[in-house]
Amino acid sequence: MSRSILISGAGIAGPSLAYWLGRLGHDVTVVEQSPCLRDGGAAAVDFRGDQLVLLERMGVLADIRAQQTGMGDQLVVDASGRTLATFPSALFSGEVEIDRGDLARILYEHSRHEAEYVFGDRVTAIDQHDDGVDVRFAHGPARTYDLVIGADGLHSAVRRLAFGDEHRFRRDLGYYIAAFGAPNTFGLNHSGLIYNEPGRYLSVASGRDTGRATIGFLFAADPQEYDRHDLDAQKRLVATHFADVGWKAPELLAAMRDSGDLFFDSLSQIRLDRWSDGRVALLGDAAWCAGPGGNGTGHAMLGAYILAGELAAADGDHRLAYSRYEQRMRPPVDKSQKFATGAGRFLAPATHWQIRRRNLTYRFLSSRPLSSVFTRLAAKSGNTGQLPHYPLPAAAAH
Ligand SMILES: Cc1cc2nc3c(=O)[nH]c(=O)nc-3n(C[C@H](O)[C@H](O)[C@H](O)COP(=O)(O)OP(=O)(O)OC[C@H]3O[C@@H](n4cnc5c(N)ncnc54)[C@H](O)[C@@H]3O)c2cc1C
Repeated sequence: MSRSILISGAGIAGPSLAYWLGRLGHDVTVVEQSPCLRDGGAAAVDFRGDQLVLLERMGVLADIRAQQTGMGDQLVVDASGRTLATFPSALFSGEVEIDRGDLARILYEHSRHEAEYVFGDRVTAIDQHDDGVDVRFAHGPARTYDLVIGADGLHSAVRRLAFGDEHRFRRDLGYYIAAFGAPNTFGLNHSGLIYNEPGRYLSVASGRDTGRATIGFLFAADPQEYDRHDLDAQKRLVATHFADVGWKAPELLAAMRDSGDLFFDSLSQIRLDRWSDGRVALLGDAAWCAGPGGNGTGHAMLGAYILAGELAAADGDHRLAYSRYEQRMRPPVDKSQKFATGAGRFLAPATHWQIRRRNLTYRFLSSRPLSSVFTRLAAKSGNTGQLPHYPLPAAAAH
């Protein structure tokens, strides 16, 4: 049965779902608040284990491989640049790694013939009734849809409108992250450097485009007051926390001042006891944000596949489909959220002693006899169990 379906958010989850729903013959609209696709940005995302089977099923694996970063090991260094430990590429970069922006572009290109994309608009009101959901937008005309899916990230508007205020569901993990792209003036070639001081982490890496580098700052902090739309205020916040840090911090802070594509956010998780309410459902970070190391991208794409598959299998019964989608996604999401609560502590240990202990562990794990075991374990961490089969149309050539 063909349905009219609104998806809020054209990040990773939204276009993945639009692809599957469009292929199933639904009338899909994707509304994205940004005036254009957010395919800039610096962060790299990786896939491992049976996540690759899903990419293949979706028909995007070849495109992703063609644009993979090819990132090698990353070295943890001291203030003078001496190597203290190695983070093997399997840890951060999985089996295939791609810049988030490149992935967003691939997913958009793959789904744009299956859905209508509306950029520069957002949902402002949702009103459900027996026959549909009346939706109002900031700019476009109001419309009624059969179903509405919130795939609009950690600060989801659909979640706020249908479930309640963000503070009820957001658990801050006590860290903030900033990432951006800059010219590669560091001589890096498919490699990266990491530097720590207690509660702080700095990284610089260069992958596919060796003319560019990805710079990351992560720091421990109590909840900070800042305007999420004020880039300069966010840069000032980062600069304050790294003002007394050595190594390349002054150079990296200067690069941040010149950058226009900063990603800045708290490390937070979203915990909801249900992901749907009537005709409205949540997907990706909007439903279950886990934070770094929590399979955010892999699970956004897996969730899209399962949600579309269950809608097809339930043949029009969205309540049944939503409940089966949630049953299937809860176990991997719970596991990832548990794992990711330690990401901040791992990346930016609180004391000199804890930094030393982590580095010693990784000196040991990256040593020759253990590195292949480590690689196998890291690949397994992305496994989701058997990928269910659904009556979904095969991937189209684009
Ligand atoms: C530009 C960008 C850079 C990122 N960089 C990092 C990073 O460095 N490290 C990291 O750990 N994670 C990062 N993330 C988050 C990461 O992409 C997600 O955790 C993961 O991919 C899950 O994808 P998602 O589609 O659920 O959410 P997201 O990728 O966050 O996508 C959500 C989309 O919804 C849009 N949106 C938000 N509110 C509304 C609204 N009211 N109406 C319509 N659209 C809306 C956003 O603009 C975005 O395009 C980044 C996200 C973005 C958008």
